Amino acid sequence: MAATPAPAAPPTSAGEPWLFGRGGSPAPRTGSGRGGHHALSGLAALLFDRDGTLVEDVPYNGDPALVRLMPGARAALEAVRARGLAVGVVSNQSGVARGLLTREQVEAVQRRVEALLGPFDVWVVCPHGPADGCGCRKPAPGLVHAACAHLGVEPGRAAVIGDIGADVEAARAAGARGVLVPTSVTRAREIAAAEESAPDLLTAVRELLAGRWAPADGSRADRAPTDRADAGAARTGGAPKGGALKDRAPADRTPTDPAPTDPAPTDPAPTGGIG
Ligand SMILES: [Mg+2]
Ligand SMILES: [Zn+2]
Repeated sequence: MAATPAPAAPPTSAGEPWLFGRGGSPAPRTGSGRGGHHALSGLAALLFDRDGTLVEDVPYNGDPALVRLMPGARAALEAVRARGLAVGVVSNQSGVARGLLTREQVEAVQRRVEALLGPFDVWVVCPHGPADGCGCRKPAPGLVHAACAHLGVEPGRAAVIGDIGADVEAARAAGARGVLVPTSVTRAREIAAAEESAPDLLTAVRELLAGRWAPADGSRADRAPTDRADAGAARTGGAPKGGALKDRAPADRTPTDPAPTDPAPTDPAPTGGIG
């Protein structure tokens, strides 16, 4: 009787994403979240981009031996799991469509990531190419929608952490919160357009877990109105469509807009014991 599946992502003419999940019927994660962490303001799930966010970006990598964690990834995941939030991965893997990757290779890399970081509640992978017009390839919202549906989490109670603009745009388009953790390949305009960013993965997670989180409806009680006035204005009236902020000039931002993140405190050994 509990077989009612979570609503799937909207169907696309170009095919569906690959979903690898644990458990058949997840309990809805709504309200104040699991474990009674009211300070989380309803944050129920964290979704991570894979390449350039959890692990180093090796283009079209199908070799588990080449998987290397990004700094702080292990500590970040430990912190999220300690708070009882669901964790997932949303990843574009256009190498499949390009004939450079097989599903078996994608799964092998996935297993290696889990060996290093522990299990994720859901993986959702877009195997399509940019020209396929699918609804799942970020910045489209399909991966985020599918992950949230599997987890039983409303997108408004999920956050996506990624290293490029497409990640945060996918989050916005899905109604989730997007946090950018730039790398050397992140474009300056993507950094400028990001409403939220952090210098590294652990800082991003700590900001979210510390309550610097707001539902996607635009309320941001944890920040002073003058703190990020441009972001607040952008949120008013609903979630922007994907790409809506892509072409915003930096001048659109408040000149006094502070750095989006507080200075990271010195952390003990964020990379843990895995070399
Ligand atoms: Mg990436
Ligand atoms: Zn796709």
